[in-house]
Amino acid sequence: MSERPTYCLITYGCQMNDADSESVAGSLAARGWLRTDREDDADLILVNACVVRRSAEQRALGRVWQLAPLKRRRPDLVIGILGCLAQKDGQSLLEKLPHVDFVVGTRDLPQIGSLVEQIRETRQRIVAIGSIDQPLAFEASPLRDDLLRAMVTIMYGCNNDCSYCIVPRTRGRELSRPAEELAAEVAGLARGGWREVTLLGQNVNSYNDGRHDFPDLLRLIAQGNGIERIRYITSHPKDHSDRLIEAVATTPQLCENFHLPAQAGSNRVLERMNRGYTRDDYLRLIERIRRALPDAAITTDLMVGFPGETDADFEETLDLARAVRWDSAFMFMYSPRDGTPAAQWPNDVPPAVKKERLQRLIQLQEAISAEVNGALVGRGQEVLVEGPSRRSDRMLMGRTRGDKVVILDGPPEWIGRTVEVVITRAAAHTLFGASRTGFQPVQKQNPHPTSMHEVEVPGSEGKIACQPVQPQQDAHATIGER
Ligand code: SF4
Repeated sequence: MSERPTYCLITYGCQMNDADSESVAGSLAARGWLRTDREDDADLILVNACVVRRSAEQRALGRVWQLAPLKRRRPDLVIGILGCLAQKDGQSLLEKLPHVDFVVGTRDLPQIGSLVEQIRETRQRIVAIGSIDQPLAFEASPLRDDLLRAMVTIMYGCNNDCSYCIVPRTRGRELSRPAEELAAEVAGLARGGWREVTLLGQNVNSYNDGRHDFPDLLRLIAQGNGIERIRYITSHPKDHSDRLIEAVATTPQLCENFHLPAQAGSNRVLERMNRGYTRDDYLRLIERIRRALPDAAITTDLMVGFPGETDADFEETLDLARAVRWDSAFMFMYSPRDGTPAAQWPNDVPPAVKKERLQRLIQLQEAISAEVNGALVGRGQEVLVEGPSRRSDRMLMGRTRGDKVVILDGPPEWIGRTVEVVITRAAAHTLFGASRTGFQPVQKQNPHPTSMHEVEVPGSEGKIACQPVQPQQDAHATIGER
């Protein structure tokens, strides 16, 4: 075994959790820890767990229970639960999971290195969930898994009160990081060879550091720092301004890619969800985006089976899908979360009805996605090549500016580069393309085309060491909106 201590980090949930795990990994690396993907070898196992839906929480807890025999065999092993699950359940996790040594909440994550050292020294169990409204200051830069596309957290928490959502309880009130600090971080990423950043927040539209709002931040970040593509997630439809649409329309680095969780198509349900917009507000927003950017990719989150949702309400969700024609959607069945207003209402849509509604919605949206993607056949797309395709290492995989996966034939030298592709075939979730320019990659704004990362990018397959295989919905889960 290595002389340096080793840790294994298991992450469940949204991109915010992925980003938190990268920050935790950076803090541990700064203190000399080595990462391993083998639990059997690890001195420390961390489970960063999601609670946004009951099934996600149960899956994470099941994983923690599976670690109990390992702890019995190796009592020196330290096991910790991090993130939203820790914040929500705190001390009670230690009571029901005797093999767990510590829990650390969302805003206490920067303490992780010192807490682990303390536990290894004293063998005392620790609960650290006290700082729900404090700013986060990690002692080191994140240790990023993806060397091409970086996640950058721009704000923490959420000030909204959607009646079904546990996130404000687990992540606290909104806190925006200073714009200049974020611009410097992105500039550093561009110098390090990263090509794309995704700016993360529960509701990025309400970003405000006191001097800059979200469109200001986007323009500042895009100003001459060499990053090629900028995305952001998640936008709340009620806070989406025309200034933001204009910023996307006029700033080359900003991808024409809008993720706008609609959640439901019925005004009655939207009101009970406390979403702050009506179906017509949502449709008008889509119209404004499409007027400015006719080819923008627009995606959403939809929920079925919310308390009180009638057949007629559900038909309105189907109808909204037909009216908007989203490029794709994350679709879920409602599950009550303790501590939310909706959890106190009768969960009155029977499971079989929820399931049937979800199937009908998925069926409709899949057909729409296939048609929307089909319309791209024969058209050119700018594709950032991420790595070998998952299905065949003779093919490459990349993404369009609209965040659509494209499989294409090309040499490994294209990995990490942007190429012009003509779409030759389309399915609901994947496009297939051929290079328009032969072996000539597109050279855009990025002034660092010969970064060492170009031939070593792991692509989307190279996720966090020891990360469990997750169902499709969670693997692509967005931040908070369900
Ligand atoms: Fe905030 Fe999104 Fe949760 Fe609403 S659903 S409270 S906007 S995180």
